[in-house]
Amino acid sequence: MSLLDNISKDKKTKYQKLEEKLALKKKSAWEQFTDKQRKEAFKLCDDYKSFLDRAKTEREAVKEIEAFAKKKGFSEIGEAKELTPGSRVYDIYRNKNAALVIAGKRPITEGARIIVSHVDSPRLDLKPHPLYEDSGLAMMKTHYYGGIKKYQWVNRPFALHGVVTKKDGTTIDIVIGESEKDPVFVISDLLIHLSKNSQDKRLASEALKGEELNIIAGNIPVTDNKVKHKVKLAILEHLYDKYGLVEEDFASAEIEAVPAGTSKDVGFDRSLIGAYGQDDKVCAFASLAASDSVKIPEHTTIILFYDKEEIGSVGNTGARSNYIEYLFGELLEMSGKHVSDIEVRKALMKSSALSADVSAAVNPTFKDVHDAHNSSFCGFGALLEKYNGYGGKYSASDASAEYVGIIRKMLNDNKIPWQLGELGKVDEGGGSTIAVFFSNYSMDIIDLGVPVLGMHSPFEVVSKADMYSAYMAYAAFLES
Ligand code: MN
Ligand code: MN
Repeated sequence: MSLLDNISKDKKTKYQKLEEKLALKKKSAWEQFTDKQRKEAFKLCDDYKSFLDRAKTEREAVKEIEAFAKKKGFSEIGEAKELTPGSRVYDIYRNKNAALVIAGKRPITEGARIIVSHVDSPRLDLKPHPLYEDSGLAMMKTHYYGGIKKYQWVNRPFALHGVVTKKDGTTIDIVIGESEKDPVFVISDLLIHLSKNSQDKRLASEALKGEELNIIAGNIPVTDNKVKHKVKLAILEHLYDKYGLVEEDFASAEIEAVPAGTSKDVGFDRSLIGAYGQDDKVCAFASLAASDSVKIPEHTTIILFYDKEEIGSVGNTGARSNYIEYLFGELLEMSGKHVSDIEVRKALMKSSALSADVSAAVNPTFKDVHDAHNSSFCGFGALLEKYNGYGGKYSASDASAEYVGIIRKMLNDNKIPWQLGELGKVDEGGGSTIAVFFSNYSMDIIDLGVPVLGMHSPFEVVSKADMYSAYMAYAAFLES
């Protein structure tokens, strides 16, 4: 008989039993999973990593989502004639938004089940006039997109992804820096040896300034002394020869500098994923994958993917646009309904939604910014956030006790590992997501996503257990 056997036979005390009955237990999702679930989590994360590598920008993500939809038998919204229970349609809007819809048994006027995520991520956009020459180098000016700690984005390889609409109106795709043979791009930081009196004195938030995020583009001049900017001209010549571009074409371009390279497993046990753009492609992919398990749902399920979340969900492809109203009107009409404004509003109002976005996991090195009792931890499951916002719940969408109750019951009934947390300490800072904009339609909505380490850095980290838990949660929600 071993020592362990002895311990397990010890009788529990009265208060141990009481504790078991009353107190909240926090347990790692890894410990809650069956062996089969662990295997499935790893398998799903392999698919997720290849999605991440193909979908670094919002346009690329939308292309992947469209390809998925076609493969899974969704038809384009304009082509489908009517919606009957189980009908699958998709819509792509301006190459930056996507919607996947599976018609439910009940009419959409009884409300839909919506999961909404975003497919844009922080990055460096080339300015409309990016190219210049200085000190023998061709350089490119950038304007960062979303919230970044600028010092994290220097001395590392970048790839350029995007589109250019040329003078003749045609648009070309550009991806440079992802294949083994491609060149990459870089922003060089100031060397340590000469930082003492200047950069070292700056606050970390200003260690690099916006106008210092200049990308190296080349070094070989044309051989003609009558030309002033010889290196810049050589780069323009290259761009013309290879892509047919002239300098003015940058004015009608969207070229994003994103970290080059592929996503990686992290840790000896490969339990985590490190990659660029996991905010919010981890939730986007998990909700996309969850749609696969839905056959004929009770309520119409809508999986939405938006752009521009990182700059406040603004613009014609952000979640503050009227797109959702159009979509509901279209779906009502396709269901053979007479569409009135009031019906669209009722359908939106009666809907239930999950804002599928990431939040901060506790970083063991920087625990002070969190309230340990109300924070999320890597590997402890899908993260439910009743509210976000900042100091005093300002600008928050605060889900009702009743709605949290419904979602909590769904998670528990389906044995899905979950945790409930806030972003950080009350007065430490904050942020918000799409939830607040969708709550304008008076629907129930709550954040349910994945905790992330190093959010908005070029190499964000998530636990595979949390990604899989979120996937399970989305699948259960879509069938609810
Ligand atoms: Mn996000
Ligand atoms: Mn973000």
